[in-house]
Amino acid sequence: MNRRDFLKTAAAAAAFPALAQDAHEWGASVFDLHFHFRPQPAANLAHLDGAGIAKANLLTRGRAAADQVKALQAAAPGRFTWFNSYDVTQPDAEQALTQAVKSGAQGFGEMKFHVAADGPELRRMYALAAELRVPILIHFQEVDHTPNEGTWSTGFAKTFAAVLKAHPRTTFIGHADAFWANVSADYHDEAAYPAGPVTRGGVTDRWLGDYANLFGDMSAVSGNNAIARDPSFTADFLKRHQDKLLFGSDCSCRDGHGAGYDNPAAPPMAGKCVARETLSVLKRSTSPAIFQKIAWGNVHGLLRIPAS
Ligand SMILES: [Zn+2]
Ligand SMILES: [Zn+2]
Repeated sequence: MNRRDFLKTAAAAAAFPALAQDAHEWGASVFDLHFHFRPQPAANLAHLDGAGIAKANLLTRGRAAADQVKALQAAAPGRFTWFNSYDVTQPDAEQALTQAVKSGAQGFGEMKFHVAADGPELRRMYALAAELRVPILIHFQEVDHTPNEGTWSTGFAKTFAAVLKAHPRTTFIGHADAFWANVSADYHDEAAYPAGPVTRGGVTDRWLGDYANLFGDMSAVSGNNAIARDPSFTADFLKRHQDKLLFGSDCSCRDGHGAGYDNPAAPPMAGKCVARETLSVLKRSTSPAIFQKIAWGNVHGLLRIPAS
C-alpha cells in the first residue's frame, strides 16, 4: 500500500466508533507491549477492541514504518506507541534505527534475526539503545517450530548474563521460547514449550532478580506457557518480579477472540486469542494490584509515558 492509500484507509478507520475498550472487562486497563503492526488500520483496532485492550505498542520493521504509524496514531489518538526493528546484519542498521527514534519510535524491536545473542550485530544495537535511551526487545529461540525455521538470538541461557553485565545502561526486554522456557532450571532446548512443573532456579527467574536492566515481555505462547504450566510456581514468580514483567500478546488473531489464530507448535492454542488466554491466567494467579502493574503500570514507567 502506498502512503496515500494508507492515509485514506486510516481516515476510514477514524470513522469507526472510538470504542468499546472496557477497562472493567479485566478489572484494570490493559496495554499490549507486543502487538505486530497490521497494514490495515481497522485491523489493529479490531484486535485491541475485541480483546478489551486500551493501548498497544506497535512492533514495526523497516524505514517505511514511521508514516504508517503516524497515520494510525492520527486515526486512533492516544492508543498506540511504537518500536522499530531493522536487519541487524545490514551496515545501515544503526542509522535506520536512530532515524526511527527521531521519528518517535520508543524502542527497538522486536529484534528477531539469525544471529548470536552476544554477537557483534546485536552488541552494537545494545550500545545504540543505551545511547538513545530506549529499550530493546529481543526474541530468543533455540528450537524450530517448523522444519528449518532456524534459531534466533541464540545462546541466551549460556551467554546473556555476560551481556547484561557488559551493558548496564541498556534496558533489555526478553521474549520468546528460550527466554520463557528458562524459568525452569532443567531446560536444555528440548522443546519450544516445555510442560509440567517448573524446577526452581532457572536463569530467567534469577536474572530478573539480579539485573536491574532486564525485563520480561509475557507475550506469545511462550509467555503464556511459563505462567500456565505450574500454578504453584506462578503466583510467587509474579509477586517477586511484579515490577519487571510486562503484558504483551503477540497474537495474530483477527478479532481479539481467537479468529484465525494458528500456531503449528501449539495446537491447543488454535482458535484462541493469546491476549485473552494470558490475561486470564494473570488474573487468576495474582492480586489486582500486581495485575495492574503487569498489564498497565510497568510499561508506562519503562516508556516514560503518562499512565492515563
Ligand atoms: Zn517474537
Ligand atoms: Zn488475539
